[in-house]
Amino acid sequence: SKYTADDIRKIAQEEDVAFLRLMFTDINGVLKNVELPIDQLDKVLANKATLDGSSIDGFVRIEESDMLLYPDLNTWLIFPWSAEHGKVARLICDIHTADGKEFAGDPRNNLRRVVDKMHRAGFTTFNIGPEPEFFLFKLDEKGQPTLDLNDNGGYFDFEPVDLGENCRRDIVLELEKMGFEVEASHHEVAPGQHEIDFKYTDAIAAADNIQTFKLVVRTVARKHGLHATFMPKPLEGINGSGMHINMSLFNKDGNVFYDPNTDNQLSETMMYFLNGLMEHARGLTAINNPTVNSYKRLVPGFEAPVHIAWSGKNRSPLIRIPMARKNGTRLEMRSVDPTANPYLAIAAILDCGLEGIKEQKAPVAPVNRNIYTMSEAERQANKIYDLPSTLHNAIKALKKDPIVINSMGEHLYKSFVDSRELEWAAYRQTVSEWERDQYLKRF
Ligand code: GLU
Ligand code: MG
Ligand code: MG
Repeated sequence: SKYTADDIRKIAQEEDVAFLRLMFTDINGVLKNVELPIDQLDKVLANKATLDGSSIDGFVRIEESDMLLYPDLNTWLIFPWSAEHGKVARLICDIHTADGKEFAGDPRNNLRRVVDKMHRAGFTTFNIGPEPEFFLFKLDEKGQPTLDLNDNGGYFDFEPVDLGENCRRDIVLELEKMGFEVEASHHEVAPGQHEIDFKYTDAIAAADNIQTFKLVVRTVARKHGLHATFMPKPLEGINGSGMHINMSLFNKDGNVFYDPNTDNQLSETMMYFLNGLMEHARGLTAINNPTVNSYKRLVPGFEAPVHIAWSGKNRSPLIRIPMARKNGTRLEMRSVDPTANPYLAIAAILDCGLEGIKEQKAPVAPVNRNIYTMSEAERQANKIYDLPSTLHNAIKALKKDPIVINSMGEHLYKSFVDSRELEWAAYRQTVSEWERDQYLKRF
């Protein structure tokens, strides 16, 4: 571990930390925290901080609600924007039951379970490099988000059009103070849309980073009078926000996706892993795209995938193999959006990839044409199937995929499906502006 309990005690004192935030993630991917005054640090370090699990979505029933927070000392961090009343530090925690066992309903514990399975299969690390995108909207006088974008910029534009640039630069500076290695940050295709890519890390650290990242982006945006949203499709007619997931798998000898002795330097193992993702693409969708709004992004024409295909060249398919080779050899899964619970998504992707490696089946041929412009018959001839088109269809596909279900375990699967079905049921009952525009006068 990067820090011992004693290191943390020492740093907390030297840096005059006043508050401690214990963080964890609920089933819906929402970051939660319990804040304690620093005089509780010893209790926290002894794994004795408690949590009422009955108030957290997807956790436990009232009768067994006492849970314990076990801090991961690696995640110790002092927030750079500390409050008036002293500095605030955080620790990301695993949830344990009152008798000290790892709680199966905690997405972070579950990811560790799948990572352990990966270790048993002979691999050392699953590296993840995420590409989260987000929009910046103006706030009104009451501090509420509007739908006014703060600029008219476009992809890689420079000032003066890119008014969000100052905000984005500040976000990057804060992230770097917190130890993130930011690799790229740019304006995205849509007005008001941005992307910040940070360096890959192993699976658990990557999921932790994604959660921290969203918090930093929202906090800094507020200071600029802006609202940052990771909603996948806030505005129709322009691109939505994805969170492409770059991944590579290592063993003690290096990146197992790389093989200098094949035509394209891609290994057989990589092709098997890829096939695992292709075969379970439909089952994975509910986890990678868990909201009603996620499916407003997965439509043709906006650089988001709609069909299940892969390519080494084209950007429209579900899975792309970027140019990089050697240790940079990787797969990019382009369907994932930032509403996905990163712990669940990374666990499910890894488990499906490992299943592919176990099965040793080669994937269908790559598709290097623009799939959006192919006819349905052409797609069928090339065995290109569709991703689920609604949350409802995605849940149905999940229910039919035992490998994806298994990647969550029984407890998480049940609470995930319950929560997603409730969301769908609520949405079904709404009548939208679009429907009234279409039908009110016509019928
Ligand atoms: N914004 C696009 C999406 O919805 C992705 C654009 C890109 O290739 O970075 O996935
Ligand atoms: Mg992008
Ligand atoms: Mg990308």
